[in-house]
Amino acid sequence: MTGFRELFERAPDGRWAAPGRVNLIGEHVDYAQGLCLPFAIAERTVVEVAARDDGRVRLRSLAEDDDWSGTLDDIGPASPAGWAGYAAGVLWALRRAGHEVGGIDLLVTDTVPLGAGLSSSAALECSTALAVDDLFGLGLGGTPSGRRQLAAACISAENDVVGAATGGMDQATSMLAVAGNALLLDMRDGTDRAVPFTPADAGLAVLVIDTRVRHRLADGQYGKRRAAVEKAAAALGRPSLRDVTLAEVTTLDPELLPRARHIVTEIARVRDAVALLDAGRLAEIGPLLDASHASLAHDYEVSSDELDLACWAARRAGALGARMTGGGFGGSAIALVPLEQTDTVASEVRTAFAEAGYREPEIRAAEPSAGAQRVS
Ligand code: ADP
Ligand code: MG
Repeated sequence: MTGFRELFERAPDGRWAAPGRVNLIGEHVDYAQGLCLPFAIAERTVVEVAARDDGRVRLRSLAEDDDWSGTLDDIGPASPAGWAGYAAGVLWALRRAGHEVGGIDLLVTDTVPLGAGLSSSAALECSTALAVDDLFGLGLGGTPSGRRQLAAACISAENDVVGAATGGMDQATSMLAVAGNALLLDMRDGTDRAVPFTPADAGLAVLVIDTRVRHRLADGQYGKRRAAVEKAAAALGRPSLRDVTLAEVTTLDPELLPRARHIVTEIARVRDAVALLDAGRLAEIGPLLDASHASLAHDYEVSSDELDLACWAARRAGALGARMTGGGFGGSAIALVPLEQTDTVASEVRTAFAEAGYREPEIRAAEPSAGAQRVS
């Protein structure tokens, strides 16, 4: 295996890790100033990093073939292209925010599975950001407000350097998550709150079922949904759909109505889920997960046959609730499952996929885990 020392002819100054995430509920509402409730998972991206004092940047990942090297001044919108933009973009965004950072040698050793809807991109950005914070003494990683600033730099890296229009949920979760909690994110005012979420204590597990179908059609469809949501808000004379009622939604044109109904009902489901979790009634959130999936499938039309089958088969095998998670059109579903039934549910989902002629799904349990941290 290629190590940091072989590549860069020196030792790293340390190793930093940041987790992927799963969104428990609150899907496609980030751009409607809504609420979402993700949690960080145990899968992490790990970067080994050494500071440089000559402004050079050398980036390498064991998960990708191409490496990149250049200087801090070479980094900007669309530069570097490819995976390196996620890491380099963090340096650019921190500099643009007024922080003094130098160059780095960076090797990505471990990774959150790429493109599985578990947010490997934010994990790469956040592990890099925490390393840079530490190595150049920015003093942001030690407090929640500092971490929010690091998350903002990660969002800017993805939006402005990579050029991917992502909403910010992933980076906030990877930076701010607390083990044993989900993170309630308010996309209107940017606030966050840890909400107790310990499925194992309730005799439950969250299974993540990766359909291994990658975001077919996702780009164009994402833009269309976003546009419909903005049009619906404008038609109602509101800045967003955040505080719109169902009664108002029913006055919309037929093509906007189901889209807006998803947003409004999904935000309500997040509130209901948070109330149940705060009350220690985790086992009762299943129906909210099911309703979220139905809304995403029928009103928002972002599910896929594979995601529908994953949820249906999981429920039939004993899941208390199941829903697609992430942007849709492929990616992963989650299922809330009694601990003693996790094997049955996993094997019945696999069987259902085989019978339908789909690729074998990858199924793993997701543990609510901590946010980014230094590991050595
Ligand atoms: P997701 O965030 O859901 O995994 P994205 O498309 O947002 O999917 O991000 C995946 C991209 O992020 C990869 O194609 C790659 O460019 C980059 N990336 C993520 N993790 C790594 C890694 N460990 N090494 C190199 N590139 C990575
Ligand atoms: Mg991503």
